[in-house]
Amino acid sequence: MTASLSAALRLMPSPTPTLLPDPASGLRPDATASQRLARGLDAVRHGVLLVDADGRITACTAPALALLHRLGLGGAPTFRRLLRLARSGCGLGTRELVARLRGGIVLDVALGGHSVQVELHPVPGEGAALVLEDVSARRAAESRAHALARLDPLTGLPNRLQLREHLDAALLRLHRKAEGCAVLLVDLDRFKPVNDTLGHPVGDALLQKVADRLRAMVRAGDAVARIGGDEFVVLQAGVSGPDEAQALARRVVDLVGRTYMIEGQLLSIGASVGVALAPADGQDADRLLKNADLALYRAKLDGRNTFRFFEPAMDARMQARRRLELDMRQALARREFQLHYQPQLNLADERLVGCEALIRWRHPERGLVSPLDFIPLAEEIGLIVPIGEWVIRQACRDAASWPQPLSVAVNVSPAQFKSDRLVETIVSALANAGLPAARLEIEITEGVLLQDNEKTLHTLHRLRDLGVRVSMDDFGTGYSSLSYLRAFPFDKIKIDRSFVTDMGTKADGEAIIRAIAGLGRSLGMTTVAEGVETAEQLRRIRAEGCTDVQGYLISKPLAADDLLRLLSAPATPLPGAPA
Ligand code: C2E
Ligand code: MG
Ligand code: MG
Repeated sequence: MTASLSAALRLMPSPTPTLLPDPASGLRPDATASQRLARGLDAVRHGVLLVDADGRITACTAPALALLHRLGLGGAPTFRRLLRLARSGCGLGTRELVARLRGGIVLDVALGGHSVQVELHPVPGEGAALVLEDVSARRAAESRAHALARLDPLTGLPNRLQLREHLDAALLRLHRKAEGCAVLLVDLDRFKPVNDTLGHPVGDALLQKVADRLRAMVRAGDAVARIGGDEFVVLQAGVSGPDEAQALARRVVDLVGRTYMIEGQLLSIGASVGVALAPADGQDADRLLKNADLALYRAKLDGRNTFRFFEPAMDARMQARRRLELDMRQALARREFQLHYQPQLNLADERLVGCEALIRWRHPERGLVSPLDFIPLAEEIGLIVPIGEWVIRQACRDAASWPQPLSVAVNVSPAQFKSDRLVETIVSALANAGLPAARLEIEITEGVLLQDNEKTLHTLHRLRDLGVRVSMDDFGTGYSSLSYLRAFPFDKIKIDRSFVTDMGTKADGEAIIRAIAGLGRSLGMTTVAEGVETAEQLRRIRAEGCTDVQGYLISKPLAADDLLRLLSAPATPLPGAPA
C-alpha cells in the first residue's frame, strides 16, 4: 500500500501531537497545517516512509517514492523487500539489521548501484518512520578524493601514502607466504639544475617522462611511487634474492639515464638508487625505507648515476656523520676554526695580489679536518651561515694588517646567499676591520647562481656597488658556466684545478685553458689558474695567457702568522720564472 504522505496524513487522527498549539511560541497551527507539513516534507531531499507494525508501508513522501523506483522497488514496495535488498547491501542478517536500525544506528547500504543511508525512528503506536537518503554522489566524490589523496597529481603515480599501503601489503605477503621484496629508492641526479635553468614546465615534463620509464620497467605486482620532488620508489615484489633487485636497479640507472627530448631540447639526467631487501634489511616499512635511503646516500657519495645495496656499516657511517654534526655545532663557540691563506700571484709583474682564505677545523680528537669533509655537511644543515659569517669577519680583520693593496678572497656558499644577512655581514665586517671594500673579494661557484637567480643577482650587484669584487670559482666544472658569465660581470674567473692537472696528460686541457684565458681577456676579467704545482704547468699557463696563478708551486695555504712572515720577507724570484 503506497500513498503519498500527504494522503496518509489526511487519514490520521488530527491534530497530531506536533501540531498542537504551542503556548511558549504562540504558534497555532490551523487545520491546513498537516497538509502544509506534508508538502514541506515532499520538498525535503530525504525520503520518509511510514511503516506499520506489520511491516506494511503506509505512507511515503515523493522523494522516498522516487528513490524506491530508482532502487527497482517501484512496483509494490514493501518493507520486507526493502529489508531484503538492504541485507544484501550491507552483509547483515535481517535480525541484526533491524536491531541496529532500532538502536538508532544510521546504516550505509549499497542498493542496486546506489549508496543509501537508512535510519529508523520508532513511532509509538504506529510502527516506524524510515528516513532514506541517496548519498551515491557524495560517496563517489569521497572515493575520488580518497584516490586523489593517494596519487601524485603530476605523474599519476601513487604517492607516499599509497606506497605505504603497497609496502604493508608486500610485508603481509612476506609474513604469510615468506615472499620477499625489494625497495629501490631512486633519486634523480642533476634534476635541480635542469628545473632551475630551463624552467618548471620542462622540469615537470621531465618528471613525467621519468615516471613513464619507471612504470614501463616493472612487472605487474610491482609498484612505482613518487614520494618527493625528484624521488621515486620502486617496490619490487616476489624477490627471492639480491640478483633480481640488482638487475632491476641496473636497468633503472641505465634507462632513466638515457637522454630525453623535451620541447625540442635534448636533456640528460642520471639516477642514483639505494636498495633495501626484505626480509634481510628490514621487515617493516620504515626500516626498509630508511635503509634504502642510507644506501642511496652511499650511491651519491660514490659519484651518483649508480646503485648501492644497503649494508649494516652504512648505519654506522651515518652515526659518525651525526657525531660530526654535533661537534661542528660546538666548534664555533670553542674557537676550533682557523683560516689559512693561499697567495695569488700576478704573472705580469710577479707580485702577490692577494690571498684566498681557506677554512681549517682543528678538531680536538680528529686533528686538522679538511673543508671538503665538513663544508658540504655544514651547507646541508645550514651551519654554513654562522661559520661563513665568522670567516668573513676574521678574513677582513687579518687582511687589514697586510700591506696595501693586498686583497683577501673569501669563499661564499649558496646557503649564505639564501639568508638575507650576507650584505649586512660584509658591510659590518669591513667597517669593524677598517678594510676598504676594494680589498675584499668573494668567490662563488655556479651553485650560487643556480638558486633564486633574481635575488642572488640583486645581492651580487649590491656587493659590487659597495666595491667588493666577485670571482667565479671552479670555472668549467659546472653545468653551464658560460651562461653565468653573461648573467653577471665577474671580476675574475678561477680556472678549476682539474684543467691545470689535465694539461700535461690530456690534449684538450691546454686548449681549454687557452680558451678561458681568451674569454677573460675579451670580457675584461682576470683569469687565475688554480692548483699550479709544477714549473712546467706554470710555463704553459703563462704561455696561454692567464693573468694570475695560485697553487702549491707559489705557496701552500699558510697560517695567518706564517703569511705575515712571508709578506715581510724580501721578495724571492718566482719558481720557474725565466732567469
Ligand atoms: P676552492 O675554493 O677551489 O679552494 C682551492 C682548494 O685547492 C683549496 O683546498 C686549496 O688548498 C687547494 N689547492 C690550492 N693549490 C693547490 C695545489 O697546487 N694542489 C692541490 N692539490 N690543491 C691545491 P681546501 O683548502 O681543502 O678547500 C677546499 C674547498 O673547500 C675550497 O675549494 C672551497 O670550495 C671550500 N672552502 C674552503 N674554505 C671555505 C670557506 O671558508 N667557506 C666556504 N664556503 N667554502 C670553503
Ligand atoms: Mg675558492
Ligand atoms: Mg676553486
